[in-house]
Amino acid sequence: MRIWAVANQKGGVGKTTSVVALGGLLAERGKRVLVVDLDPHGSLTSWFGYDPDTLAHSVFDLFQHQGKVPEGLPAQLITETSHQGLSLLPASTALATLERRMIGVEGMGLIISRALAQLWDDFDYVILDNTPSLGVLMVNALAAAQHLIIPVQTEFLAIKGLERMLHTLQMIMRSQKNELSYTIVPTLYDRRTQASVKSLNQLRKTYQDSLWRFAIPVDTKFRDASQAGVIPSALDAETHGVRAYRHLLDDVLAITATARERKHG
Ligand code: ADP
Ligand code: MG
Repeated sequence: MRIWAVANQKGGVGKTTSVVALGGLLAERGKRVLVVDLDPHGSLTSWFGYDPDTLAHSVFDLFQHQGKVPEGLPAQLITETSHQGLSLLPASTALATLERRMIGVEGMGLIISRALAQLWDDFDYVILDNTPSLGVLMVNALAAAQHLIIPVQTEFLAIKGLERMLHTLQMIMRSQKNELSYTIVPTLYDRRTQASVKSLNQLRKTYQDSLWRFAIPVDTKFRDASQAGVIPSALDAETHGVRAYRHLLDDVLAITATARERKHG
């Protein structure tokens, strides 16, 4: 099982869209894929037609057992989606209360790792969608993941926020002793605007090694897709946005394959 987390402390940068696109494309290639909604807003959950305000059971349930994960519980919380090969562990808005409840609970940062350990034989890929705030949910995602995908909107100011976030991430990873590899992915790129072009150039100058070589372009079909619950891979395969996500998937697969070889090698 390979576990990726998609994270950025900023909202609206394309995290959830990236989770759905990468998950959809992997499922299209015949992989068994689980996408996990770790955002109390539940946008990923809504994408698949579930209402995070009214869901009786969600990923929240995993956090209700004093830091332990009862055998069989993760599997019970997973729902199928309309897309073959793609399953969802949904969020409910109750997740917003987690921060307060989990203070001082032993093992609170390892709930997601422990839950996924139970699902090791059931899925080939797990992709974790994250909330923009850095709290117990993000800590769980960082502890569970093997690779981190960081979407960054190509606009002014995005890079300042990115530096801060990378700094915090490195602090957390050091405390967890989980050295993640990561890929910074420029998103919402519009080559007709100065802001996009300039910030992409600046990203390239600052982050040569960990920056993805292309960018995800603005593709209005994505906005329509989230409203209609359509998986990007099921869109016309020739939209430039879907094509970009295919390239991204191939590159992340290549990066994570060499990282694994190095680890085991
Ligand atoms: P986040 O999860 O980081 O908050 P989302 O994936 O929800 O970001 O994207 C924020 C908004 O931008 C959504 O309305 C989404 O449909 C739209 N969006 C995301 N990526 C693209 C893209 N490449 N082109 C056009 N719209 C996009
Ligand atoms: Mg989101």
